[in-house]
Amino acid sequence: MKTQILTILGATGTIGVNTLDVVARHPERFEVFALTGATQIDRLCEQCLQFRPRYAVMTEAPAAHALREKLRAAGSPTEVLEGGAALIAVATAPEVTTLMAAIVGAAGLPATIAAARAGKRILLANKETLVVSGQLFMDAVHENGAELFPIDSEHSAIHQSLPAGFDGDLDAAGVKALWLTASGGPFRTWSREQMEGVTPEQAVAHPNWVMGRKISVDSASMMNKGLEVIEARWLFNAQTEQIRVLVHPQSIIHSLVEYRDGSVMAQLGTPDMRTPIAYALGYPERIEAGVSGLELMGSQLQFEAPDMQRFPCLRLAFEALRAGGYAPAVLNAANEVAVDAFLNRRCGFADIPRAIEHALGHLPASSPRGLDDLLEADRRARALTGEFLAARALLRA
Ligand code: NAD
Ligand code: MG
Repeated sequence: MKTQILTILGATGTIGVNTLDVVARHPERFEVFALTGATQIDRLCEQCLQFRPRYAVMTEAPAAHALREKLRAAGSPTEVLEGGAALIAVATAPEVTTLMAAIVGAAGLPATIAAARAGKRILLANKETLVVSGQLFMDAVHENGAELFPIDSEHSAIHQSLPAGFDGDLDAAGVKALWLTASGGPFRTWSREQMEGVTPEQAVAHPNWVMGRKISVDSASMMNKGLEVIEARWLFNAQTEQIRVLVHPQSIIHSLVEYRDGSVMAQLGTPDMRTPIAYALGYPERIEAGVSGLELMGSQLQFEAPDMQRFPCLRLAFEALRAGGYAPAVLNAANEVAVDAFLNRRCGFADIPRAIEHALGHLPASSPRGLDDLLEADRRARALTGEFLAARALLRA
């Protein structure tokens, strides 16, 4: 067993905290090289004192300054860096074997792509990277000998249900379809009218999972499933028609692979992100994750079709995937802006798909040639969505 040397981007978030929980159970397997966070100084400080990384990165200079002072006062040897360039530096440092990419949103993209170019083992929670730049990112992984493990319960389930050593050829593996399960979120049974008036508090109260605020809203709108459909397309080299969504409110079956011969392989477990994290950290070994065993006795498993009328975000994601080019990047950018506005009470829940549809109606005419083009389209879609939501707010006022 070789020790893995880890950088965890987004260490202070839900995935970051769960990752450190698994890491702490295996001190002989993992060393922490760097931890990063955007704002939570106290939490990052505690993590640095416990895991003694060489570096800590805070995105903003004032937060970095505050963390530096706190760590110095506590006698910590950890060096504090700041800004986007430092995120790339700690993701690609020669000592680092493994990157946990757990920043939320397209903000995670530059450092994650840089780690792929540096040939690292990448544990990818930041699904937005694949949505915005799927082709580019997968090319970087393949051309530089990087290894990629999904940190999404659905994609981990598919990874576990495909043949070992799957090389990206679903046809050769005898696969007919990939079935992504979805809990349906807190509004699974609500009408469109009821969903017009929901509050941020209602939207972030997920029935089965504890997650960051942005992904919780995405789960409530089912955009999360839409982003996961696009994620699956790139991770498993799937055709859009091969990716299906199945609503399964209990979140026990995490996803399924349907084979040509009629077999369906699935992965089940208690809904706890430490399972996919431990699977990716330990692969090909199975390591202890601290997760309580699955209690199937007496439980009922339900399945339903997704409703694209009540959850237009899911429809829009399928449409963006089919359109290709800039569309997934624009979908993602508009969604990030609208979710942020919703969480800050600047728009309604049902304005999220409206804003995305508006942005998708204004795609750049050309095709993206590289990362810079995609990032420019991301910036334009953010500005456009901001204007759209501001105009709607004025109309309502
Ligand atoms: P979170 O909000 O709890 O944590 C986000 C982390 O990113 C924090 O450490 C935060 O400080 C950092 N961050 C935020 N904005 C940043 C910026 N602009 N620059 C640098 N760092 C920034 O989110 P989470 O729930 O841990 O989700 C992280 C990622 O994992 C998301 O892409 C999400 O879709 C994905 N994911 C999460 C879950 C889950 O169960 N939480 C499951 C599957 C996938
Ligand atoms: Mg998921």
